[in-house]
Amino acid sequence: MKQSKRSIQPISCEEALSRVFDFIDDHLRGKARIELEHHLETCRHCFDRVEFERLLKSRLRKLNVNVHSQKVRKRVETLLDQF
Ligand SMILES: [Zn+2]
Repeated sequence: MKQSKRSIQPISCEEALSRVFDFIDDHLRGKARIELEHHLETCRHCFDRVEFERLLKSRLRKLNVNVHSQKVRKRVETLLDQF
């Protein structure tokens, strides 16, 4: 169990955030997922962002909102900008 984390390439916050939605949807696999998980362990900012997105998603789902609707997406993006 001595798999070194040195083999994991550090990714930027920008890169991490670009994978957040796939991660939450559980679509992220392999290296991309490991890199993101590693980033989240070390970056509080992105970790908070994932928690926020998760919460938001489950809320929207409970409200039965179609998250793929353009209108809703736009509103969510505006919300996130203010966050
Ligand atoms: Zn980060």
